[in-house]
Amino acid sequence: MASPLLASLLPDTTVLSDDDVSIGGVSLSKLVATYGTPLFVYDEATLRSRCREAREAFDDGVAFASKSFLCGTMARLAFEEGLCIDVATGGELDIVLRSGVPANRVIVHGNNKSPEELELAITEKVHRIIVDNFDEVERLQALVTSSQPIDCLVRVTPGVEAHTHEFVRTGQEDTKFGFSVSTGDARRAISTLRDIPGVSVHGVHSHIGSQIFDAVGFAEEIAILADLTRSDGFDELCVGGGLGVAYVEGEHAPSIREWGRAIRDAARKAGLDANVRLLAEPGRAIVAQAAVTLYRVGAIKPVSARIYMAVDGGMSDNPRPVLYGSGYEAFDIEHPLAQRPFGVRLVGKHCESGDVLIDEAWLPQATHVGSVIATPVTGAYGYSMASNYNRVPRPAVIFVKDGRAREVLRRETFEDMARLEV
Ligand SMILES: *Cc1c(COP(=O)(O)O)cnc(C)c1O
Repeated sequence: MASPLLASLLPDTTVLSDDDVSIGGVSLSKLVATYGTPLFVYDEATLRSRCREAREAFDDGVAFASKSFLCGTMARLAFEEGLCIDVATGGELDIVLRSGVPANRVIVHGNNKSPEELELAITEKVHRIIVDNFDEVERLQALVTSSQPIDCLVRVTPGVEAHTHEFVRTGQEDTKFGFSVSTGDARRAISTLRDIPGVSVHGVHSHIGSQIFDAVGFAEEIAILADLTRSDGFDELCVGGGLGVAYVEGEHAPSIREWGRAIRDAARKAGLDANVRLLAEPGRAIVAQAAVTLYRVGAIKPVSARIYMAVDGGMSDNPRPVLYGSGYEAFDIEHPLAQRPFGVRLVGKHCESGDVLIDEAWLPQATHVGSVIATPVTGAYGYSMASNYNRVPRPAVIFVKDGRAREVLRRETFEDMARLEV
């Protein structure tokens, strides 16, 4: 049994009534009638407000981590709100450049950048390249010249264990990312890079993990980064992303503003010069809460142990429950204010027993085959991790704002999926 869903998990502009939900002034029932299901609905006001918060909490150069949710419209929105855009592959770089975001607002990451990816980053003159390993340093040595220069940060592993799921932990010593501080690799990388004509090293970067709820890990990270920053006279320090968000009732995450304040406090305590630009790369904290996913219920099957409720999407549009055991809430868009006494296991339509969206979902008694269910906080790592497993087309993505809806990514078709056949 559960009470009606708390508004704190929903996009900022959500209005609940007895028989409908509107976001950005647009009725979800009407969106479903126009665009079908499954459907991602993003509230532009929430996205913009989180971007602004990040821009105010950090210095210029703070970036949106595009892997959390990327399309041209999202890249332009983050750029308009003053953020740089982080990419980690040639594919992400391509989408961002096509969107019209200038290369000098793009930051290029990656733990295995190909020579082609590096060359594109260099010729486009991206804002920063985040250097990850000695093989990349060698590639840069061959590509960078005084007339073809780059600005970079050096990614380091501070040896900090973030308090989060082991698959999204990246700051510990045993990791594929960055140069170890404790072995001296970080220092060696910095001095090698500084000897390459055309390479400007602005500072160090680290990213200790994702879905982190307390600032302690960040404070430890900063103490280590501050040491390197001071001894090398750097003017930039980037703490990466990783701020957690609440997915289910009872979870509480710091706001981006509070996170920024904690980072600044930690930097001051670590004795960092006030002129050093403090940067971060939030992804999830910008986009997660801005979206809901809408599904239509197609089957309700009582078995001895429980009731299975199957919807028309699943692990192909939200693999997080399968990958990380992540929890979500659900509500019925026709009964958003109702009590939720109806306990079901919400599953997708894929041929896997593991295709579970919510292990124990609570819905109103009135939810039936044909009802539209919404799962909130699905704006991050849902669409961006979406697949065509079982040849299920990717959902459409709608942005809503001031009573208007616009489709920013159309629903994939069978033709789209057949296009690669040769
Ligand atoms: C994934 C990632 C981010 C964003 O992480 P969130 O948890 O979504 O904030 C930022 N920086 C780097 C280097 C990343 O790999």
